[in-house]
Amino acid sequence: MGGIGSGTYLRCGTRSTIHDMRALQIGKLARNGWLESNGTCSFAWSRAGQRMGDIMVRAAAGHVVLTYRTRTNGGDWRDMDYPVQIDWTPCHLGGTRAWFLCPARGCGRRVATLYGGAVFACRHCHGLAYPSENESARDRAARRADKLRERLGWPVGIFNGSNWGRPKGMHRATYWRLVREYDALEAHALGSIMDWVHRFR
Ligand SMILES: [Zn+2]
Repeated sequence: MGGIGSGTYLRCGTRSTIHDMRALQIGKLARNGWLESNGTCSFAWSRAGQRMGDIMVRAAAGHVVLTYRTRTNGGDWRDMDYPVQIDWTPCHLGGTRAWFLCPARGCGRRVATLYGGAVFACRHCHGLAYPSENESARDRAARRADKLRERLGWPVGIFNGSNWGRPKGMHRATYWRLVREYDALEAHALGSIMDWVHRFR
């Protein structure tokens, strides 16, 4: 947790998001020069009065560090802590505008919003459209995970989380077998994303 709590501490507010996804907007962080302040900021998401999760964002030179916890289907909590690079582009009317560079493997798109998910990534990555030329065993795991998501009636894309429940009419035993299979595939696919993310450190 080195550095958390140092610098300016802002509580940046609570917001609801559509489709159970947690959105992290760079505009909120860039406001009032916060990104340059080496500050720490905490976000909480809630929906219908229920807390959906929270995240700590720490600003540093050229990147922010995201710290939060995640878990799948009531499993063990995993501590997540990784940097997301920030890019700056000039504005029409002068000044600069900040962007996230999506931290998902093979992406790096310049985006204003990241979505979580076990891992925060851009909207495009929610469909996991990895280029087929660098498909690895782990990419295949992501695609197989998506196939299972379809069978489970969950929105496709491992970043969409897995708390979507059992589809109507599916036997409990079948459901849990598919969920266990899914969890293994997701861990595999996310492992590859985290490998990539950690190369920045
Ligand atoms: Zn992306």
